[in-house]
Amino acid sequence: MKWLLEQLERYIRVDKLPHLWCPGCGNGIVVGALVRAIHELEYEQDKVVVVGGIGCASRAVNYLNFDTLHTTHGRALAFATGIKLARPELNIFVIMGDGDSVAIGGNHFIHAARRNIDLTAIIVNNFTYGMTGGQYSPQTPIGQKATTAPYGMMERSFDIAELARAAGATYIGRATVYHANLLTRLIVAGSRHKGFSVIEVLSMCPTGYGRRNDLSSPAEMLKWFAEHTVRVKRFTEYAAEKEKVKDKFIIGELYRAEVPDYITAYENVVLETQVREASD
Ligand code: SF4
Repeated sequence: MKWLLEQLERYIRVDKLPHLWCPGCGNGIVVGALVRAIHELEYEQDKVVVVGGIGCASRAVNYLNFDTLHTTHGRALAFATGIKLARPELNIFVIMGDGDSVAIGGNHFIHAARRNIDLTAIIVNNFTYGMTGGQYSPQTPIGQKATTAPYGMMERSFDIAELARAAGATYIGRATVYHANLLTRLIVAGSRHKGFSVIEVLSMCPTGYGRRNDLSSPAEMLKWFAEHTVRVKRFTEYAAEKEKVKDKFIIGELYRAEVPDYITAYENVVLETQVREASD
């Protein structure tokens, strides 16, 4: 118990508590997984930066006891890119909600992936804009309700992992707040990977999303995640039995590729230019 309290005071700004999240929100589980991952990675505390945009998930930066940056809506990856270019030795995590990362921040997301900048993006996908009252986001599943879709969402959502892969991300994983240990492992692997890593975590917003969609209790939402996900290995085994994987999210490590990251490519260009100019 003493050890736990020491770790709490080490990684969390206890003077900022109580937090502003609703009871049953998934954001606390994400923060716990991130802290456990950083502890396992044994990063020095002043070599970690956590960047957030705007939204409930991004408010995590207020409570984490590292150098943190609370930025503008959709621009967290742009700020994080600037930090990485100035201080490549830092370990940078970017926490964003689904609206922040792939709606208003969609363009920054695509280009961070294309550049393969060495950042770990944690996308907390709760299928809604929670902080502003439960409007639909590009991740709200078709037919589900939101304040701006009282009769059901009519637009199609898209797969964040597939978007990330098509845009050039070199590490992609997905977990849910029900699978907290998997989430920690993916954050560890994503951070160790040199390049742009995307960890999507399906999370619960009982206030903005759940209560409009017959999932009003956090326990029901956790059960829903348990029942609507399939591990990547099982997905391959079940491929012939379509019913077993129908309407399920695949979780686990989804993609990994070894491609030079942006800083390495940048340093190579500088070096080659210096060599060429010295020989002219
Ligand atoms: Fe969490 Fe939703 Fe409440 Fe925001 S509105 S704190 S996402 S439960």
